[in-house]
Amino acid sequence: MISMPEAIDMVLSRAPVLPVESVPFRDAIGRVLASDVFSPRPHPPFPASIMDGYAVRSVDCPGTLRVVGASRAGAPHDTHGSVESGTAVYITTGAPVPCWADAVVPVERIVTLKENTNVQIKVDASYKPGTNVRAVGSDIALHETLLFSGDVIGPHELGIAALAGIRNAETHASPRLAVLSTGDELVDPFSFGDVSGDDDENEPKRVASGSIYDANRHMLLAMAVEAGCVTTDLGIVKDDPLALACAIQNAVATGADIIVASGGVSEGDKDYLKQVLLGEFSFDGQPDTVKGAIHFGRVLMKPGKPLTFGEIKTNTKTVLLFGLPGNPVSAAVTFALCVKPAVRRMSGYLNPHPPRIHAVLGHDIVLDHERPEYHRAVLHWPEGTVRDVQDKVDMTLGNCPYQVNLGTENLPTAISTGRQISSRLTSMKGAEVLLELPKGPGFCGKDTRVSALLIRGELGVSREMHMGRVRPVVTPAAAPTANHGVLGAAVAKTAGVTRNDSSCDSGKTRRRHGEKPKVITVVMHEMVPALNVDELLEESTIPDGERRVTDDGNDDGFAVLSAAIRVVAESNETSNSNIEGTWQVSQVFAESGTSASLATTIRHAACTSQIVLVAPSGPAGVSSQAAVVVGTDLGFPGLADRMWHGIEGVVSGDDKELNLKELADKHAGAGVGVGQVAGCVVLSVPPRNAYHAIKSGVQRMLVVPREKWEGLVL
Ligand code: AMP
Ligand code: MG
Repeated sequence: MISMPEAIDMVLSRAPVLPVESVPFRDAIGRVLASDVFSPRPHPPFPASIMDGYAVRSVDCPGTLRVVGASRAGAPHDTHGSVESGTAVYITTGAPVPCWADAVVPVERIVTLKENTNVQIKVDASYKPGTNVRAVGSDIALHETLLFSGDVIGPHELGIAALAGIRNAETHASPRLAVLSTGDELVDPFSFGDVSGDDDENEPKRVASGSIYDANRHMLLAMAVEAGCVTTDLGIVKDDPLALACAIQNAVATGADIIVASGGVSEGDKDYLKQVLLGEFSFDGQPDTVKGAIHFGRVLMKPGKPLTFGEIKTNTKTVLLFGLPGNPVSAAVTFALCVKPAVRRMSGYLNPHPPRIHAVLGHDIVLDHERPEYHRAVLHWPEGTVRDVQDKVDMTLGNCPYQVNLGTENLPTAISTGRQISSRLTSMKGAEVLLELPKGPGFCGKDTRVSALLIRGELGVSREMHMGRVRPVVTPAAAPTANHGVLGAAVAKTAGVTRNDSSCDSGKTRRRHGEKPKVITVVMHEMVPALNVDELLEESTIPDGERRVTDDGNDDGFAVLSAAIRVVAESNETSNSNIEGTWQVSQVFAESGTSASLATTIRHAACTSQIVLVAPSGPAGVSSQAAVVVGTDLGFPGLADRMWHGIEGVVSGDDKELNLKELADKHAGAGVGVGQVAGCVVLSVPPRNAYHAIKSGVQRMLVVPREKWEGLVL
């Protein structure tokens, strides 16, 4: 599965910048300029008054002046050159200053001496030439570059063009984007009932049992308009290959540059979109099947894993097709992260990516174990940012308040929009950013600095405002100590959630079985030298002190680790393909090999694994057996000569205590303990021949779905 950054790169590499066309400036809002715009005339085009007052010769001031006329905005004074000295002209803001005058005295600075036809004014102060006069071209010089190629035309840019009298803009064309929703369950909420039928014409169509309203199409069309597209609504399409093929052909025929479909790209038996795009169906009597290509069909991200991207070539161009997941949040997030950048690249944006800023978390966020997450959040900006920063300005940096804005104290605080399940569209309400969170385990704590992609508002659209990606601190720090061949991505898969042991309580976690990653965690530790067995037993807090030790023990945790890796590799190769995902192995170190330390580590590891294997500690692995008992809700020491007997007893859920006790007595010292905690099966591994023990005991669990473990008879 490719990563989201890789997916975005691939999309952008295939999104062509659209041709340039000349459009009236006032129709070009949201478009990107394809060439620089120069001013064909200066502004102001004449010397203009800045104030309401009197146009004067500066050499006449101070003095008493005779008012000989008026120059109003749009009605200049008709003086053609020669006017006696000692005269003034009444003038309004923006009116042309007569050619003989060189300053304007504000109306509030003069005293009117005579009214009616012969008006005189008294000016008390002196005025320099140019006072209160905007010189020709002082706002915009002749031939000045007003707008640059790559600028996005907004209201202000339109105003500038209008002021300079520029009618047309050379811009890149707007992408034409067609949207369709797929799904037999979908009903259009905005199509109204028939008056003659049962439906009320003022009410949306009723949804039959099993149906839902189509949210995606309306949302995606609106997002496309906002992104600057010309849109086509292709309606709801049934989960039927022919209907889908026709809809896609239809979209191509309408001249679409981009087709956005939602739904139908997961693993269900009616998710046909990928096959249709690849032309895998032939339709009797129908002229065309679609002949496209798929560049990716799954992305390592949350939400949005089924995101699909392909292309359809026509005689004249290549149409991009995005198959967004049907869950509305996934559709919205993948549109923002993948489709919108493609739209922007095609529209000519120099930087098509959403602006990235930094924020600090307002609370802990638990990380997803398998996929990096784009977590929806709102931003709270610190109050009085500029004043606070100005107080702290280091003058050696220059008196610029923003230069010191490097810490986290002036960053916005990101607050999650709540439960992030991809069907809960209300988690998009008000969302301003997608926090870029790494995959877990663990969590990002309150006050951690994270990067955030802006998905709403214009902040940061300026090319200079993009900040780097932040690798946030994850707690607890994953310990990538696996230099002993742990399966690639499994490194550091497991870490204890040390802050909140109760989160691993069996009752709570039982609900989360399905969410746990398919991980076997090997608990490793330093060997604890024990002077004698009695001492070891005492320290191991085994409830039942009677124990026969028959083996010398083996503290080589790495032998267990590599045995687990072998077993998992074999299982992954032969695994039933219906079972999603492969197993991985991880390791975690306990502080020491004491049963107490091991038990704590087991409980933490159980939060993020389905199986925990405890490497042997002490002679016959007795400390690790004890740790299984102490660290689990349901645990039995020394259960079996073969590990799978132990598993049978625990996972079948039957009341086998008596039986297990017998087994325990019989096989005490064989080094196997077994228990369950937080929905996780925990086993201590025998000191000898770890590979065979793990293989016989664990391998079958790896190839059946987790739900079936409860009834598994090994
Ligand atoms: P799919 O990707 O087709 O398997 O759909 C995944 C989930 O999203 C299902 O629960 C669908 O009912 C739901 N869904 C699919 N399309 C839409 C839509 N246009 N609006 C709202 N929900 C949808
Ligand atoms: Mg569907």
